[in-house]
Amino acid sequence: MDSTIVLQPVGIIHTGIEHPKDMPLGGDLAQIEIFPEYEPALTRIEENSHIWVLMWFHLADRNILTTRPVKVNPDLPEFGVFALRAFSRPNPIAITMVRLEKREENRLWVSGLDAVNGTPVLDIKPYYEADRVFSPRTSYIRPRQRQMRMDQFYRHALNHHQETCADLYLAVRMAVIADEVLGQLTQDDVVVNVQGSRCLADAVQGITNARLANPARLHFTENNTDRPVVRWSKGEQILTLTGIRPLNQQDFWNLDDQEIIEVRR
Ligand SMILES: [Zn+2]
Repeated sequence: MDSTIVLQPVGIIHTGIEHPKDMPLGGDLAQIEIFPEYEPALTRIEENSHIWVLMWFHLADRNILTTRPVKVNPDLPEFGVFALRAFSRPNPIAITMVRLEKREENRLWVSGLDAVNGTPVLDIKPYYEADRVFSPRTSYIRPRQRQMRMDQFYRHALNHHQETCADLYLAVRMAVIADEVLGQLTQDDVVVNVQGSRCLADAVQGITNARLANPARLHFTENNTDRPVVRWSKGEQILTLTGIRPLNQQDFWNLDDQEIIEVRR
């Protein structure tokens, strides 16, 4: 039996990033050019805010079956490539969910795309509500660098809350501390109690995937105080973090923990 599968690219990626090693973890802005003969296949695509882009990672090494997420943390053990989102794999099909910013005829401007310039595009599908799993269980691929953990929590918070604001910044900085004390914050036994704004609760929810029930991991008391409190607990361990000043973007990236958060254990 001939098991050969023949794929024809339907488009190509245009971006300023030429090499996989220069790709930021959350991807980048890019333009997808769909070849003119496939343009009718884009009809009404602009009704979607997010799309899945399937691509062919033409630079990948196809002989690799196990690897380590070295970009994130070189100390972690090996994973099978099917248990990671690694670039190299036997069939280097890439799947990335991106935000569709704009369409102009056969060109799509997207953000969050993790493919280099010239990557062939195989397919595009809309991202549906049904694709969403609010609290999946995943391997804990914890970045070794604090800065990268901060960036990761920031992206999770922003995905959920959909705006940057002072309390989103605070939630992320608190989460960085809580992760250092309690470990993976999305675990079932990590419970958070938020006393502050809706923005703070929302951002904490985005980072922890904590729901109000089943199991009840999120407790929220709306309180428009200038000293919002998040109490994080895991079994007997309790960590109480109090915000002591409103944060702007610069404070968020630059101030030390003790300048912005009071820690009680
Ligand atoms: Zn907000």
